[in-house]
Amino acid sequence: MKRLAILGSTGSIGQSTLSIVEQFPDRYSVATLAAGRNIDEAFTQAERWRPRVVSMATEELASYLEGRLRTARLDGIEVVHGTAGTVACATHNEADFVVSAIVGVAGLEATHAAILANKPIGLANKECMVAAGEILTAAARERNVPILPIDSEHNAVHQCMRVGAHGEVKTIWLTASGGPFRKTPLEEFEHITPAQALKHPTWVMGQRITIDSATMLNKGLEVIEACRLFDVPPSKVRVTVHPQSTVHSLVEFVDGSILAQISVTDMRLPILYALAYPERPASSLTFDLAALRHLDFEEPDFERFPCLRLAFEAAEKGGAHCIALNAADEVAVDAFLKGHISFNGIPRTIEQVLAATPEAHPATIAEVLAADQQAREQARARVAGS
Ligand code: MG
Repeated sequence: MKRLAILGSTGSIGQSTLSIVEQFPDRYSVATLAAGRNIDEAFTQAERWRPRVVSMATEELASYLEGRLRTARLDGIEVVHGTAGTVACATHNEADFVVSAIVGVAGLEATHAAILANKPIGLANKECMVAAGEILTAAARERNVPILPIDSEHNAVHQCMRVGAHGEVKTIWLTASGGPFRKTPLEEFEHITPAQALKHPTWVMGQRITIDSATMLNKGLEVIEACRLFDVPPSKVRVTVHPQSTVHSLVEFVDGSILAQISVTDMRLPILYALAYPERPASSLTFDLAALRHLDFEEPDFERFPCLRLAFEAAEKGGAHCIALNAADEVAVDAFLKGHISFNGIPRTIEQVLAATPEAHPATIAEVLAADQQAREQARARVAGS
């Protein structure tokens, strides 16, 4: 029995994880839940799963949840809050495996603490790897703690990598759907609206990641994530636009063989893979091979998607530049959604912030968070001035 700490339990990855626990009750149980701000969902989950600890974003939300649990006569569930609360969930002595699915750098400290506490990680939070991947992977290697990717592309790469040795890998190919603007004339980009950008062709996801898919910044973050997870330089990672999103990624080996992973576009599969690794439990997720008619692959257009170019440049520099890329994008996407800047304003803001970022390699999580704050302030100033 694996007892799970689920960080980000009310988000879409958290809920999919709980549906896996539901399907495999003899394999998985819930130890702790970090639920964030959704009080109703947090209560429902606490009632259903009876975790040892639930963490809420704020003290106020935590005391409100405590009150509701008391009224419902649900005893024995400790309610905590804030970063310390998330860390308590991640490092609880009854947790055997941590699903890290809090969006943004908010989950960073807890993910780091879990690694230091020797807990295997299922990682769905790519911002953690982008901002602090150098620190996290070093700590994990030192302790022999596995980090299993839940991001669909990296999960696919992880599966393909099992076939060959690390030194036999020539190129990691990350597939990208290309987003909704793959064929939009370039002169129309300036006038793309948030409503248009929020329509993703193949995946239903949160707002920021949907906009990041439209700019392809998301793929850029995934390039950095791949470098860190699989310990390869950016020159060994390439992006291929694959509009069907059927091949989740590929690994090319030095002998010329290319391995691809194909499956339904359902996050439960990579979650189950990460939870069960190195086993493969039978699941009901099937892919209809006969329905497969086309597999198209094309080179990404770096002129159309400047965010992808910026991400490769940041990947080469590492450290503070990767932190700034992520932080500036979060601010810029928020400003775009609020109508403060144009779609093209997103890469412009990121480029300006990166140009003002010194080359540095933060060595601690505190330094990472400070660099993240600095980049956010820079980005806010640029957005306000545009
Ligand atoms: Mg992905």
